[in-house]
Amino acid sequence: MSFSAIIRKMFGSSMTPPDSASTMSRNAECWCGSGKKYKQCHYESDRGYFTAKQNEGCQSGG
Ligand SMILES: [Zn+2]
Repeated sequence: MSFSAIIRKMFGSSMTPPDSASTMSRNAECWCGSGKKYKQCHYESDRGYFTAKQNEGCQSGG
């Protein structure tokens, strides 16, 4: 199973955040274009996404 397929399974969406979202201000407008603040929109789900992405690249140890 590919990484993107896992993410879709986890979040139920094909919409993935841009890499810039990992350093984005929580008070900035969300990257998805909803017009809401990032912290009120995709912030929580993106945290899970980037955590999973980091784990993807580091399978051993822990
Ligand atoms: Zn959003």
